[in-house]
This record gives sequence, C-alpha cells and structure tokens, in this order.
Amino acid sequence: MKRRIVGLKCIKCGTEYPISKLFNGCPSCRTDKFVSNLIVTYDYEAISSEISKDLFLKRPKELGVWRYKELLPVENEKHMITLGEGNTQLIRAKNLEKKLHLRNLYIKNESTNPTWSYKDRLCSIAISKGLEFGAKVATVSTTGNHGASTAAYAAVAGMDAVIFAHPLISETMFSFMRAYGAKVVPVSTEEGRLFLMNKCVNELGWYPTGTFSRPMPTGNPYGTQGHKTIAYEVIEQLNFNVPDYVIVPTANGEGLYGIWAGFNDYYRLGFIDRVPRMVAAETEMGPLANALKKGINYVEKVSAKESIALSIAGNISSYQALRAIRDSDGLAQPVSDSEIVNAIYLLARYEGIFPEAASAASLATTIRLIEDGKVERDAVIVTVITSAGLKDTRPLSWKTPPPIEPQWENFTSFLKQYYNYTII
Ligand SMILES: *Cc1c(COP(=O)(O)O)cnc(C)c1O
Ligand SMILES: [Zn+2]
Repeated sequence: MKRRIVGLKCIKCGTEYPISKLFNGCPSCRTDKFVSNLIVTYDYEAISSEISKDLFLKRPKELGVWRYKELLPVENEKHMITLGEGNTQLIRAKNLEKKLHLRNLYIKNESTNPTWSYKDRLCSIAISKGLEFGAKVATVSTTGNHGASTAAYAAVAGMDAVIFAHPLISETMFSFMRAYGAKVVPVSTEEGRLFLMNKCVNELGWYPTGTFSRPMPTGNPYGTQGHKTIAYEVIEQLNFNVPDYVIVPTANGEGLYGIWAGFNDYYRLGFIDRVPRMVAAETEMGPLANALKKGINYVEKVSAKESIALSIAGNISSYQALRAIRDSDGLAQPVSDSEIVNAIYLLARYEGIFPEAASAASLATTIRLIEDGKVERDAVIVTVITSAGLKDTRPLSWKTPPPIEPQWENFTSFLKQYYNYTII
C-alpha cells in the first residue's frame, strides 16, 4: 500500500519537507518580516481508494475527530487520543433568521466540545502526533482555550503540560487548566511568552501545540489539520451541499485555514463541486483586514488595542489565514466590543447558546457584512461559535445584586427596579 501521509509543504514557495518537528514555518522563504506556513500533504489517490462518504457517515461519533482518520496526519492507531471531540451540532438558527431577516443562517456550535472550545479538534491531533514524536512535555502560549485543551489532552496522553498564559485570563480559566494538572505560568507580555516558549522548544525539546514564531505566527501544522473536520461535518450536515460563507473568529488563523483545507479535501475527493468563501471575524485591530486593504502579501503588526474578545485579540495573524481568505475570494471584517456584546445576547436569547465573546464575533461580523451589503441576505451562512461563555463572564459585567428580604412588595419592586419588569 502507498503511503497516505506524504510530508510537509510550504504554501508559499512549495518546498517539501519530510514529516518532522518543524514548528517554525518554512525555513526556505522566511525573511525578516515574513514566515510562511507548512501544511501536511497526502496522497489523495491512495486515500480515495480506501474511503467513501458513507464510510465516514457510518462510523460512530465516539471516535471523535478520528472518524476521519484517513485524512489526518497520525499514522498509528495506538497514538490516536480522543476525548470525544467534534461531531458538534449544526443548528439552523430559525429565530435569528427572523430577527435579522436572513434566509439560511446556521450555527456550528463548537462550545459543546470536551473542553468547550474548538481547540479540542486541534489538540486531539497535535497531542496524538506528539505521542508519535515521543514527546514528554507539551507547551503552548495561550489566552486560555488552547491551554485548557492542551492540558486535557496531555493529561490523557500521559504528558506534562506547561502553559504560558496571558496575564488577563479569568480565574475560571486558571482553575480549569490547573484541574487537568497543567503548570500554568502567567507572563506579562506576549513577546515574553513567546521568548520563553521558544527556549523550551528549542533547548529542552518540549512539544509545542501552538505558535511561538515571529514575525508571523505559524503554529503546529499537524494540529491545524484537526480543524478540517469542521468542514467535513458541515458538509455532511448540509447533505453534501456547500455553504456560501463560513465565518470564523480569527486570531492566528489556524481555525480559518484548517476549515478551508477541509473543504478543499472534500472538493479534491469529489464529494463537493465547489468551495465556500472564508470570512475572518476580527476585533477592531483587524490585522487581516489591514493586509487585505493594503494589498500586501504578508501580515504586518497593527497597533494594539484592548478588546473583550481575548481569544482573538491579536494584532498579527498568519500567512495561511491570508491565503484562506484570498484563495476563497473571502473577507476579513473587524467588529467592535459593543457589536460583540450585542451578538452574545442575540445568540443566548434567540438560540439558547451562551458564547465566549470571541465566538460571538462571528455573528457580529455576519450582521455587519449583511448591513454593509457585502453578504447577501439569502446566502447560506455558517457562523462558527468557537467556545462557551461560562469561561469568562467579565464581558457581560453583571454583578449579582444583594438578596432581597422575602416580602411580596420587595419582590415586585425588585423586578420593577432591577429589570423594569411588571407582573401581569
Ligand atoms: C483560539 C481561538 C480562536 C482563534 O483561533 P485561531 O486559530 O488562532 O485563529 C477563536 N475563538 C476561540 C474561542 C479561540 O479559543
Ligand atoms: Zn517556503
């Protein structure tokens, strides 16, 4: 039998490398302001003869992302770690369709993953591949979700996890990672986190599940492959119809590019006859929107601004993110914190989904693009809700009010004063 997994390949210059621990992007075409990403390449002919649409559909959901193991970069079944990630619902957002005057709005609800974010798809693959490389210690620099997911999968794989955390992570996030046994080290600056992680990877041989590269982020090319399964599932859930737009909250763009790569796999295998347009939902910093506007072929740092959407509040992004947008004739749309808060309430109050602020950015972006006439009201739109709101409730700034004494008048006046709600 021919080898299914061929190697790594640069998406810019095309240089090929064997499957190896190359986590810093392509060494060949790197410059002082540019780094390209490497992708995993496969022998699609060999894979075609082994798989079919029905084969994937028939496999049990308990396999997690490994339901699609032939299209994922791990060789040996004994290394395939799963916590039951993926196989999330694609919800037809009927109430929001009415409210927003849309015809075909879908929500891919990734907040139901094992650690409640879509990073579980990435970490399932990244940690499994780590086992294949014989890794003992996993490490990542994170605003929370990547760390929590790395911690959970490392725990199950029997690896240690050392997590470099953003100083603003919530208490919940810290406890979450500690529960899995990870050593969590908050570091004051992003440069500092990357500097330390770089040393741990290069000098101690620790295994990175995420990026530590500059001038542009690269990431773990095996982990990025995990996000392809979002595309496979969406296509199955739409009965092999293709959405017009897929809107993804984006920071480094592993999600955006991974999902795009998944659609391309299905196109190459002949399961679908076209591909969607990929849309990056960004905070007001908008590094991808900036690169597109300037027409440059790299992503430059934009000036830093605070945002409640911590998981996507980066002022730089990757070459692969830019490529996913350009190659798909897609878009990047920054949104403000107030648009994001509005979208959190819309998702919760109309569809029963309480998203993390970063995740709500995908709906906020959808609304903005519709209002600006950049996306048609009857388009088939899939918004990816990447994580759950419970991890960090600070963006909604509620404080539990002091308790009332249980007299009827107190109760009715509390409803009136606090909620402007009159009993009828
Ligand atoms: C990591 C993360 C993102 C951004 O993913 P990238 O691959 O870095 O673009 C979006 N939303 C949530 C909730 C995340 O944790
Ligand atoms: Zn290259």
